[in-house]
Amino acid sequence: MDHRRMRAAVFHGPGDVRLTDVPTPKLREGDVLVRVTAAGICGSDVNRYRYGSQPWPPPFIMGHEFCGEIADVGAGVSEWKVGEQVVVQPTLSCGACFYCRSGHENLCVEFVRRGLTGSGTDGGFAEYVRVPAYQPHACPAELTPEIATLVEPTAVSVHGLRLADVDTLDTVLVVGIGNIGLLAILAAHAGGARRIVAVGKYPLRQELARRYGAAVVLGPDDPRLRERIVEETDGLGAEVALEAAGTPSSLRTAIAGARKGGRIVVLGVIREEVPLDYRGILMNEKHILGSIIYQRRDFADAIEILTRWGVDPRHITVTIPLDDIVTRGFVPLTERPADFVKVRVAT
Ligand SMILES: [Zn+2]
Ligand SMILES: [Zn+2]
Repeated sequence: MDHRRMRAAVFHGPGDVRLTDVPTPKLREGDVLVRVTAAGICGSDVNRYRYGSQPWPPPFIMGHEFCGEIADVGAGVSEWKVGEQVVVQPTLSCGACFYCRSGHENLCVEFVRRGLTGSGTDGGFAEYVRVPAYQPHACPAELTPEIATLVEPTAVSVHGLRLADVDTLDTVLVVGIGNIGLLAILAAHAGGARRIVAVGKYPLRQELARRYGAAVVLGPDDPRLRERIVEETDGLGAEVALEAAGTPSSLRTAIAGARKGGRIVVLGVIREEVPLDYRGILMNEKHILGSIIYQRRDFADAIEILTRWGVDPRHITVTIPLDDIVTRGFVPLTERPADFVKVRVAT
């Protein structure tokens, strides 16, 4: 095979992802080249495919949930050897700003300019990807490429639970049971939550929610939803409520479903401003926390959680070859999103 060129799905704009041969990235000092073995398609990738990319202009190769093998190392890289299996944490950070120096690299002042690997910078929907040597994590042998692509979205929930900052997880409410919500249930369960209540629809997702540790799954259209959440959480509401659906009504459900003094962690991306009951928030001392991606330790914890607990095989709805990423990936994910939990691309 000619290693100077590689197959890649290049994103050019809304509805325009092209499968082409492009030059394999050249290594610079401090970089490694990863041969991608598998990559997950994220909801944010689908949103870019539908609506375009803000604030990072195309063209670039999407894909920020991926694992692979070290194929080459650049000058000055001593921590990685060719052939090592890795899961890549796609965060790009400057390493020098106030936030990076205090261990909050997810808040790096350069975030908007740099984006993530796969969002603004070439990512994992290709045979090879060049990344800074600080990004990969060693992939344990027991963590298969099927599951390793779920580390990144799991880390999102791990970070959210860390921000909630409770010593022993008591009752946890998860609103939304798409990929992120399901993995949040798994992370809460792995974190020792005493009782998990989930809100979400579709029978398969509801079944996965129960398998991952939800004691009860309520439908979002239940007319008594808020009362039911309170009933299912000792008559109090949840200690921690994770919003994982990204809609105004799911945010309101999470806030209403948290107990007095409870923490509401916002994981979903809500694009509009949402009017909220601030008097209720004040009177009940509810804490609303935004949670953006993850830090290195969250990613490491996510690897541990998935290695130990695994996922149900039905979590990966379908595995497709890179060449089919548009016809069997972006198009059906745009037209029938409810039919999928996760689409995985095998390279
Ligand atoms: Zn994502
Ligand atoms: Zn920084």
